[in-house]
Amino acid sequence: MTERSSWIEVDLRAIERNYREVQRIAGSGRRVIASVKANAYGHGVLDVARALERQDVFALWTGHVGEALALRAAGIRARIILFGGYLPAAIPELLRHDLTPTIYDEEGLAAAAASGQSPAPVYVKVDAGLGRLGVPIAEAAHLIRSAARAQAVRLEGVYTHLPFANRKGRDWAAACAGRFDGLLEALRAEGIAPEITQLWGSAGLVAGLADRTNAVCVGHLLYGLSPVDADIAQPVQLQPVCTGIKSRLIHVARHARGADLAVGGRYRLADATSVGVIPLGLGDGMPPLRAPVSAEALVRGTRVPVIGVSLEHTVLDLSGVAAPRVGDEVALVGAFGDSAIGLEACAGKLGRSPLELMMSFSGRLAARVARFADSEATPLGIRPVEAVGT
Ligand SMILES: *Cc1c(COP(=O)(O)O)cnc(C)c1O
Repeated sequence: MTERSSWIEVDLRAIERNYREVQRIAGSGRRVIASVKANAYGHGVLDVARALERQDVFALWTGHVGEALALRAAGIRARIILFGGYLPAAIPELLRHDLTPTIYDEEGLAAAAASGQSPAPVYVKVDAGLGRLGVPIAEAAHLIRSAARAQAVRLEGVYTHLPFANRKGRDWAAACAGRFDGLLEALRAEGIAPEITQLWGSAGLVAGLADRTNAVCVGHLLYGLSPVDADIAQPVQLQPVCTGIKSRLIHVARHARGADLAVGGRYRLADATSVGVIPLGLGDGMPPLRAPVSAEALVRGTRVPVIGVSLEHTVLDLSGVAAPRVGDEVALVGAFGDSAIGLEACAGKLGRSPLELMMSFSGRLAARVARFADSEATPLGIRPVEAVGT
C-alpha cells in the first residue's frame, strides 16, 4: 500500500439524518438548501453531495467554482447555486455548466443578461449588515428591480446571510433581519416575489429566530456542528458526521526509564518508556502542539498523550499500552470499545473549534466514507457496518 495511512471517517447516514432533522425544524413548507462550501466543511464534497441527492435536496450551495464544476463532472444533477467566488466575466460559463450564479451588482447582472441563456437564472444577494458579499441593503431594491425587469434573466431568489455565534450576535442578526424583511415586503408591494427568499442559516434556525422567508440555507447543522453557544440554542437531534480521524503506528520503540528523550523539542521526557509514531504531521493538517495545547489519542482503547508533532509525523507516549505493535490503529477522533474521543473534544484539546480542525485536515487526508446502522446510533459510539467507498 503506497497511500499514506492516515484518514478521516465520514458517516453519510448521519448527513442524511441531519438533513431530515433540519427539514423538521425548518417546517415542511420551507425549502432547505444545503451548504457544501469549502469541500463540504472539510467532509468531502462529492460524497456529501451524493448523500444529499438521496434526500432529494432542494439545492446545493457553494462559493467554490472548481468544486461546483467537479460536482457536475461527477454527475450531480441537483440545482447548484453559487453565492460567490468568481468575477462577473465568469458568469456566462457558470450558466453553461448549469450552475446558478448570484449577482450583487450591475456588472454581474449585465454578464448574466449577455450570457445567451434565455432567460439566465440568477439569485441576488443582499448585504443586510454582515459587510461581506452582497448589494448593500440601501441599494438592493434598485438592483432587484432591474433583475426582475430584465428580459434575458429570471430572478429566482433573493437572500442574505446573517451568521452569529452568541447572544449579542443574535440581537444584531434579528435587527438586520427586520430590515431584510422590510425590503422583501416593499418588493412584494411592487409585484416582485421571487420563487426563493432566504434569510437564515444554521444559527438563526437553531436559535429559533422569526422568519418570513420560504427557505433556509444550512451548513453547520448538516455536519452535526453547532454554530452558536449552548445558551441560545434550542434542542436539536444531530448526529456527528466526522466519526474518525485516524492513522496507524508505523514505528514503535522502547526506551529505558529515565532516558533523556527530546520528542518535539521537549527534553528529558524521562517517563516515556515506549513511543509510537504515526504518519500524520503538520503537512497533513495536524495542528502544532503549543502550550496549553495537549492532544490525546486512543490506541487499542487506551487513552495516550500526544508528545510531539513535526512536519510529517506525530509521536505518542505508549507507556500505558500493553504490547503496542506497528500497524495498530490510532484514533485522534474515534471509538474503541467503551472509549471514545469525539471531534469536539479532540479539537478543544488542540485549541481549535471542530470546524477549524476539519478545515485544517480538509482535502489532505483520505476520506473513508461509511454508512452506519441506525440502531447503534448514539452521540459518539457509532460503529461502521458497511463501507461504501474509500
Ligand atoms: C455558509 C452560508 C450559509 C450556511 O451557513 P451555516 O452557518 O453553515 O449554516 C448560508 N448562507 C450563506 C450565504 C453562506 O455563505
